[in-house]
Amino acid sequence: MPEHTRVLIVGSGPAGLTAAIYVARAQLRPIVIEGEPSSTTDQPGGQLMLTTDIENFPGFPQGITGPELMANMRAQADRFGADLRATKVQRLDVESRPFRAWVTDDVEPSISADAVILATGAQSLMMGVPGEERLLSHGLSTCATCDGFFFRGQEIAVVGGGDSALEEATFLTRFASSVTIVHRRGTLRASKIMQQRAFANEKIRFAWNTEVLEVLGEDRVLGLKVRDTLTGDENILDVTGVFVAIGHVPNTTLVTHQLDLEDNGYVRTGLGSFTNVEGLFAAGDVQDHVYRQAVTAAGSGCIAAIDAERWLEAQGF
Ligand code: NAP
Repeated sequence: MPEHTRVLIVGSGPAGLTAAIYVARAQLRPIVIEGEPSSTTDQPGGQLMLTTDIENFPGFPQGITGPELMANMRAQADRFGADLRATKVQRLDVESRPFRAWVTDDVEPSISADAVILATGAQSLMMGVPGEERLLSHGLSTCATCDGFFFRGQEIAVVGGGDSALEEATFLTRFASSVTIVHRRGTLRASKIMQQRAFANEKIRFAWNTEVLEVLGEDRVLGLKVRDTLTGDENILDVTGVFVAIGHVPNTTLVTHQLDLEDNGYVRTGLGSFTNVEGLFAAGDVQDHVYRQAVTAAGSGCIAAIDAERWLEAQGF
């Protein structure tokens, strides 16, 4: 028989752990499947495990590192009795109730749950070039809102040609002395209005038909090795910061084909955190392609916990 829980939370970023704090304080003792450490982090905890300083999470006037913030949230969830497990959900069945989750290869499910909060997050697409992984959080970032402030007076590059790249570049001109948009083609994918804004900004330059070959530097970014895709010429772009803005993908593989997704692949939520599957709630970046902040993810984890508690109560569980 699978182990039964009233609320199963999948994911341990700010959304999952905030949901865990709320559900645990409501005496519902949630099981939280945290995920596993990745090749770059020794703890699960989502995208913030890849971040160094966070200066915009309210309540930390001196800032806090991403891993510390996640450790604090985890300790807080643990204190109220959340059952935290550093493993992965391999399969999730939300087509019949109770919902079922597998954390092993067994045929039998490991856990059954009355309600599930899906907080599996999203990931930034990465270029996959040498130096990128090593310099992530050491001059290479995927979030201008989070890290722009650290690049005051510097010459930086933004990679990508979509709305994200242009939005990030425009935002970064508040801090940087110049921003070079490095785009692999000769025309932008971004909307016309974003293009006009970027073209009108005198701090923004463009490196057209340019692909990134390598991010240079050992423990901080010292430049970008690039190639002109038309001529094949290789060059070094002198920048001390790089923002990768080539898109995001929500982590929805567990639920694909089982619930409604937006056209761009994010989980569709209606009011609050309700999905089209009764008893399945979604929180954080898996359902948010607009804000993508730690504090908004935490807020949406709180919303999902309250929605789940009220739904369980209304169902008489
Ligand atoms: P996107 O529209 O998919 O654009 C990704 C960009 O990155 C493209 O220019 C693409 O080049 C480039 N790219 C992809 N893989 C690459 C690689 N490996 N190396 C180098 N470049 C690569 O993604 P997005 O900009 O994140 O936008 C996602 C969605 O959110 C869009 O619908 C967008 O309109 C929306 N959005 C809206 C706003 C806003 O309205 N304020 C802000 C941000 C995002 P190619 O062009 O050659 O394919």
